[in-house]
Order: sequence, then structure tokens, then C-alpha cells
Amino acid sequence: MIKLQNVNKVYTENGEETKVLTDIDLHIKRGEKVAIVGPSGSGKTTLLSLMSGLDTPTEGSVYVDDSDISKYTETQLANFRNKSVSIVFQSFELVQAFTAIENVTLPSRISGKVNNELGIKFLEKVGLKGKESRYPRELSGGEQQRVAIARSLAAETDIIFADEPTGNLDSANGKKVLEVFLENIKENNKTFVIVTHDMNIASVMDRIIKIEAGKIVL
Ligand code: ADP
Repeated sequence: MIKLQNVNKVYTENGEETKVLTDIDLHIKRGEKVAIVGPSGSGKTTLLSLMSGLDTPTEGSVYVDDSDISKYTETQLANFRNKSVSIVFQSFELVQAFTAIENVTLPSRISGKVNNELGIKFLEKVGLKGKESRYPRELSGGEQQRVAIARSLAAETDIIFADEPTGNLDSANGKKVLEVFLENIKENNKTFVIVTHDMNIASVMDRIIKIEAGKIVL
């Protein structure tokens, strides 16, 4: 499903090179739930952005369903991101001019078949019933994070990437959204890759991948 072969990522800024990922080999099967853990700055978010087609490796290949997305053009990548993956960003990436329900149904709007009912269902599941018409600025950080989570589920993609999706939630809400994720992933045999610092969350995944200084150590 997702296969990284000899992936290296180097960022060059002002002529200075920073090697962020070194010789990453990784295979994630369809329907697998994987946690990525490791210290801050170890390369977890970079790894997620390579797997989700937001960034390309300096060296190596990233296969998703047998296609090497590292060779895709910008247009192919944009298409891939719209159709095949959902991403819960650490910074939520909600559209400020859109209400909660408009944000949640945005992926279905892009594909041309808006599914309001599904959006309302997922907002309710993450505990935001009654807040469908609120704009992001009228929601707390934790509530915005849950809108981003509802959007990732309502998009009905085969793969969900989530970067610290419970980072802004109290433990009760964190537990609740984890259950919502797990239920939806199981029902639809989705592949789930989550970056987390919370070992309670990591331990319920099928596998934990540990990164230190840009290398997989576990
Ligand atoms: P983590 O998610 O584990 O905290 P990141 O993947 O965000 O780590 O970052 C890994 C390293 O790569 C950090 O040292 C960070 O400063 C660097 N980095 C990330 N993105 C860029 C970028 N666009 N340009 C330069 N350096 C970057």
C-alpha cells in the first residue's frame, strides 16, 4: 500500500544543507494502523509529508498502491492528495471563511458531490453537534482540531495521515476522537498513520515506528 525505498530528504536553505531523513525503508500494508513516534525535530512530520505527497524526497521512491508518487508532476500530486489521502495537520488548516460544516464537506465539494449529512454525522461523532455553523475563529483550538478530524473522516479516502491529532484535546476528548478514528478505520479498512507523543494512543496501533535523528530505529 505505502512503500518507501531508500528515502532521503535534505533541506537546503541559504546554501546550507540539513539532512532530515536518512535511508528510510518502510512498508505499510493496506488497513494497517501505524504510529510514528520520536523526539521533536526527528523528522516525523517530514516523513508524513513525503507519504502524503505534500513534499518529494531528495532521493528514493515513495510508492502508494504501486505508483511512485515521488515521480508525479505537481498536477498529479494535487490530484492524488484530493482523491487518495486525508491529512489532519498539526495546524488544522481550516478555511477561515468557511463554517465548520463547510470545512468538513470541502473535500466532497472538490469532488463535486457534497455530502452534508455525512459531514453533520462526523461533526456529531467528534462532539461538535450544534456547532456546524460556527466559523473557525468562533471555535477553541481543540474544537478546530476536531473539525479537521471530522473532515479527514468525511473525505472517505483509503488513507488517513494525522499529525498529533489529539495535541490540543483534553484526555476525555482525545479518547473520544481516537475511538471515532478506530471505528471508522476498521469499518472501511482504511490505512492510518498517526504521529503522536501519546504512548496510550501509539500502543493501540498495529505497529510503532520510532524515529531518531532522521532514522528509523524501531
Ligand atoms: P518532527 O515532526 O519530528 O518534530 P520535522 O519533520 O518537523 O520533525 O523536522 C525535522 C527537521 O527538519 C527539523 O530539524 C526541522 O527544523 C527541519 N525542517 C523541517 N522542514 C524544513 C524546511 N522546510 N526547511 C528546512 N528545514 C526543515
